[in-house]
Amino acid sequence: MQRRPLLAGNWKMHTTLAEAKELAKAVAEAAENVDDRDVMIAPPYVFLSSLANTLRDSKVLLSAQNVCWAEQGAFTGEISPVMLRSLCCNYAIIGHSERRHIFGESNVMVNKRITGAMGFGIVPLFCIGETLEERQNGNTFSVLEEQVKEGLANVELDNPNNLIVAYEPVWAIGTGKTASVEQAQEVHAFLRDLLGNIYEKTIAAEMRILYGGSVNAGNVDDLMSQPDVDGALVGGAALKAESFRRIIQFE
Ligand code: PEP
Repeated sequence: MQRRPLLAGNWKMHTTLAEAKELAKAVAEAAENVDDRDVMIAPPYVFLSSLANTLRDSKVLLSAQNVCWAEQGAFTGEISPVMLRSLCCNYAIIGHSERRHIFGESNVMVNKRITGAMGFGIVPLFCIGETLEERQNGNTFSVLEEQVKEGLANVELDNPNNLIVAYEPVWAIGTGKTASVEQAQEVHAFLRDLLGNIYEKTIAAEMRILYGGSVNAGNVDDLMSQPDVDGALVGGAALKAESFRRIIQFE
């Protein structure tokens, strides 16, 4: 099964408008001659409109870092999937560990966001991952299973391109500690199996499962060599044009 690799940069709460435009241009240039993989950036909400313009003639896909479930209404501080669609932003990270751990987003809220986003044609990058304590206590698989089952409760999927899963061990995010290739592959294979029990096996076989957690120019080749690692969600190393370029050009 040939799955198209996806390299996605999560800019988190970084960059000014000028820096964002410059970085987006550099990413567009790096993606220009790359035909066998997808490249995506997730800048802060406030820059989406401007960057949609910057990236208009490029191959770079645009993602939000979160999205509300509702079309519109009294949800102060939130952004609706319809607003994103109106900017040609068709993807949204949902359930990032920083949303879960700093802002208290639960599996139930993540499920609500996924359901709402998909209902309006936004493709979620659904993030899951265990903490260090959960891994050390031998609970990695049960935690992930719960996150997947609760996050995807009543979420129907008949097209594998409509949902992307990102495995991001919390202990590896922004810490410089990457999961070993064996750890990443073990979890990705487990997740594909789990998704095959929830959806059709053929759908799970075609779904993209990204790895995230201190991916950089030096480790991307090894991670991407694993059969069930279909791409990377990159934080820190996506903020420097040179390192993200190298990540895009993984071998
Ligand atoms: C992330 O923010 O999703 C992430 C994986 O960050 P970093 O690459 O910096 O660990």
